[in-house]
Amino acid sequence: MSDDKKIKVILHRGARQIGGVCTEIATENTRLLFDFGSPLEGEGNQDILEIDGVTRGDVNCDAVFLTHYHGDHVGEIPRIMADIPVYMQKTARRILEAQQEHKVSVGQKVWAKDIKELTEGIPVAIKDLKVTPLASDHSASNSVMYLVEGYEKKILITGDYRLHGFNREKLMRTFERLKNVDLMITEGTNILRSSPYYEDEPSVKKKFAEVFSEFKYVFLLTSSSNIDRIVSFTRSVPGGEYPLVDDYQKNLLAIADEDREGEMKSKKSTQFIVRKTLARGEKAGFGMVIRTSEKFRSIVKEFVTKYPEDTCLIYSMWKGYKDFTGVNDILDLCKDKICIKSIHVSGHITKEDLELAIETVAPKKLIIHHTSAKEEEKKLIIPDDIEQIHMLDGLMYEL
Ligand SMILES: [Zn+2]
Ligand SMILES: [Zn+2]
Repeated sequence: MSDDKKIKVILHRGARQIGGVCTEIATENTRLLFDFGSPLEGEGNQDILEIDGVTRGDVNCDAVFLTHYHGDHVGEIPRIMADIPVYMQKTARRILEAQQEHKVSVGQKVWAKDIKELTEGIPVAIKDLKVTPLASDHSASNSVMYLVEGYEKKILITGDYRLHGFNREKLMRTFERLKNVDLMITEGTNILRSSPYYEDEPSVKKKFAEVFSEFKYVFLLTSSSNIDRIVSFTRSVPGGEYPLVDDYQKNLLAIADEDREGEMKSKKSTQFIVRKTLARGEKAGFGMVIRTSEKFRSIVKEFVTKYPEDTCLIYSMWKGYKDFTGVNDILDLCKDKICIKSIHVSGHITKEDLELAIETVAPKKLIIHHTSAKEEEKKLIIPDDIEQIHMLDGLMYEL
């Protein structure tokens, strides 16, 4: 095969850091980018992404594909030039748009309305590359992986994912189907995180039920876009008690529910928090999904003061967020007064499951990005017959 039939791979960012990722897959005629994120605070290279033909100069990029709506994957999209189409799974796009509309008052631009919608499993052909979004499992709802095909090569880009969510089996079947792809580009967030045991999302749901059997008033502090978590919570509220959310959260759930079936949909009886429903909840008991805003702080304060024995706050986010202002304020409000329980699992694949995923896909070549692990630390989880490609930000690899 002649040289011009090679596929070029460049990690513009994310080769050696968690988040802020952007990966290029290109041929002689086609140039595609996958994700265009902002770096996480204090994590790795913090410079904004400047890419010729994408953020400056004459447009020279055919499309940008997004795996999911977390800021470390989409944050710098507003910087790409207007003529470049951006694609995203349709429900994820609608959630992202709703998030942006919600933040308009603090200066958020609503750019997600211009993103083109994809449907899982339906490929898009862009010149000589074919891109197929595949259903994934992450703490962002409707996340996808991408299979990129061209020049008789297959490349899998996983985005952020895990095997301890509700879709473990489905994802394992996808990996079986993808066996022996030419290149797998996977995230490796948890390679260095030492926790030997991560519970799975179904056991989080069980723990919610236990809390409800003990407490009459249960608050859930979590990311409003962690839909699986919130669905589990609303479904754990006992019959006769009230699952309560605000109108913004209800809107996000309604968008996500359109794409969900059965047990994965939020509980039908989920109510808006208005004075009337709060009064009913106070009588019967409730489970309320909260954020850190003043509105929620004052409700929590009221119940902490009135019913310290009957009230519990579930902290359901990464432990690092405990130090953030807002989160800190609400936890301080509850500390020593009511029960606080930390019930959470990571949105990212564990080290053990990553080994399993790599073994199952058995790609010919492998790149692990979205991690702070060093190349020799990555090597430890890679079978000898799989070639590990060492990448640095900006370096080109030809496949
Ligand atoms: Zn990420
Ligand atoms: Zn993510």
